[in-house]
Amino acid sequence: MPPNMILIDGKAVASFFKSQIANEVNKMKKQGMKVPHLAAVLVGNNGSSETYVANKVKACELVGFESSLFRFDDDVSENELLEKIKEINANDAIDGYIVQLPLPKHISVDKIINSIKPSKDVDGFHPENTGRMVKNLPCYIAATPFGILKLLEYYKIETKGKHCVVVGRSNIVGSPISILMARDGNPGNCTVTLCHSKTEKLIDHTAKADILIVALGKPEFITADMIKDGAVVIDVGLTRMPNANKKSGFELKGDVKFDEVAPKCSFITPVPGGVGPMTIVALLENTLKAARKEVYF
Ligand code: NAP
Repeated sequence: MPPNMILIDGKAVASFFKSQIANEVNKMKKQGMKVPHLAAVLVGNNGSSETYVANKVKACELVGFESSLFRFDDDVSENELLEKIKEINANDAIDGYIVQLPLPKHISVDKIINSIKPSKDVDGFHPENTGRMVKNLPCYIAATPFGILKLLEYYKIETKGKHCVVVGRSNIVGSPISILMARDGNPGNCTVTLCHSKTEKLIDHTAKADILIVALGKPEFITADMIKDGAVVIDVGLTRMPNANKKSGFELKGDVKFDEVAPKCSFITPVPGGVGPMTIVALLENTLKAARKEVYF
């Protein structure tokens, strides 16, 4: 690897921010304030969802937050879930909460998300928070794009005036990060191109990117020929690939062919250990903001 290429260490940055949050919680305790309280609603027994929620609860403990977990079986009715959400919305002890996705098919994700009180929507998925983000108003930014912004900020990566190309337009990553990178702010002030599966000649766009953010879910899709020399590459992709040599039987792969792309970059995130660890930090920060009523007064 060239000496001027910087590997973005999401794990180390996440630890740094977690200890900052823990310090803030200690200060709140000393001032006799209630500590932030994050709740999670988990439906069914999806292995990945169980792991994600367990990690979030563990992170809460680590920084001194209170946490609650509300579990439901797969066959819970939509109404039952909506009732629980009403109850959490009204519970002043809970500052923010998430409903872990995916939900079983018989439940409307939109109905559930829309019923979350925006001031407690620390996942930033409610249309009110999305609208606030678009208008550059105080809001909860969804965890993955918020985590990416924090990495760019931590490494002091210049974004103003740069050409940022985003590949993937999902509601949780691609679309919001494209809006955030174009906003008048820092990080931000980029000229943004948003690519998706209908984009023609993708390489013509990616090869012009000063900052390339990839979130498409296709392992090692981005190859060295698609990258401009000196680009900043943020790989959001996370796919489990079978690997008999691993104890777990699988390995995690990003959307970028790391070994051949990294030598061309000024900065690059590895997978795992890049964007992933920052998503929990983002959720914790949103919960801290909720407890301090910094977004909704
Ligand atoms: P998604 O909902 O699966 O959407 C994929 C996007 O990629 C779509 O917009 C799709 O275009 C686009 N796409 C697919 N094939 C393409 C191609 N050949 N050329 C250009 N664009 C193409 O995406 P997601 O939920 O954002 O997830 C993307 C990846 O990020 C997954 O691997 C996921 O596991 C990972 N992820 C990681 C984290 C983390 O914490 N690290 C968090 C969230 C997601 P269309 O819209 O036209 O279909």
